[in-house]
Amino acid sequence: MKAFKTLGLLALALALTPATWALPKIKILATGGTIAGTQASPADAGYKPGTISVADLISSVPQLRNVAELSGEQVANIASQNMSHEIWLKLATRCNAVLADDDVDGVVITHGTDTMEETAYFLSLVVKSDKPIVLVGSMRPATAMGADGPINLYNAVALAAHPAAKGRGPLVLINDTIHYAREVQKTHTTRTDTFQSPNRGIAGIMNTGRVFFYSANTTRHTTRSEFSLYGLTVANLPRVEIVYSYVNFNGDTIDALVAKGVRGLVLAGVGDGNTSDAALAALARAAKAGVAVVRCSRTGSGIVDRNIEVNDDQLGFIAGLELSAPKARILLMLGLTQTNDLKKLQQYFSEY
Ligand code: ASP
Repeated sequence: MKAFKTLGLLALALALTPATWALPKIKILATGGTIAGTQASPADAGYKPGTISVADLISSVPQLRNVAELSGEQVANIASQNMSHEIWLKLATRCNAVLADDDVDGVVITHGTDTMEETAYFLSLVVKSDKPIVLVGSMRPATAMGADGPINLYNAVALAAHPAAKGRGPLVLINDTIHYAREVQKTHTTRTDTFQSPNRGIAGIMNTGRVFFYSANTTRHTTRSEFSLYGLTVANLPRVEIVYSYVNFNGDTIDALVAKGVRGLVLAGVGDGNTSDAALAALARAAKAGVAVVRCSRTGSGIVDRNIEVNDDQLGFIAGLELSAPKARILLMLGLTQTNDLKKLQQYFSEY
């Protein structure tokens, strides 16, 4: 009888506990972007990204309170075309610190869509945690007709709170779709379905907070990455630049960048990482001078493999394999903090 009474009291206590009692604790690190942007009037084409604070973002979606216990921190408030190495280091440092806290179950990063794929990939290489990290943005500002920010933010928080999001590295959530950091690319200037994962496909989908994963991430990231923030500063990140190939490209920009002292060059080549004979000769000169040269493609998808039309062995080049040129730049920068060995650098491109 006494046991029943105790159980009854316990049930009553549980019933009266606030709804947040058992909710996962999610930290929102805000950096700006259109999701935090406003326009003068909903019919107005012009708008300004990075104008709404993280506190206002959270309170604009009251349904979030049913999904997680939230706290927010403003890391930056910029349009992501102005994302910088400096903010990356700050953001990655905050991710590491926040995720090391037993009281935090996952992180959501609000971010502009223009460079979100680069930030996601950088974080995937240097953040040391298995806990969910979800980057989210929107294509339409908060004040637009049919704003997509609120549902994206709701899904992102639900994803970061979900145990299935653990151990996958940073995820990008937008337009009901989950992408892996290494795969995702913005492919359209304005449409809400702009984000695609053209090579290996999407990670999964979401339906108003419900999570469905379709595939595993088999590449190296976060806790299995040999890169870290240790000793990394804006000043000692090796300078790596991208050169873009097109008809009549004469390669002058390659020589100019080498004269500037770059440590690495990434070719956004035509087709299968190709470029004109003149540019190829300039890249070969760069490689001979000790600059690490990676060949990628401007096509947006596919694999640039070694020694197909270009003899990488002979010219001393690295093949970018599945990475887009902007992501190859990030991997090469971090790679060059570890080694100048071409074989080792090539291996990074197979693993990360
Ligand atoms: N230019 C904006 C940004 O990247 C676009 C967006 O967020 O969708 O910050």
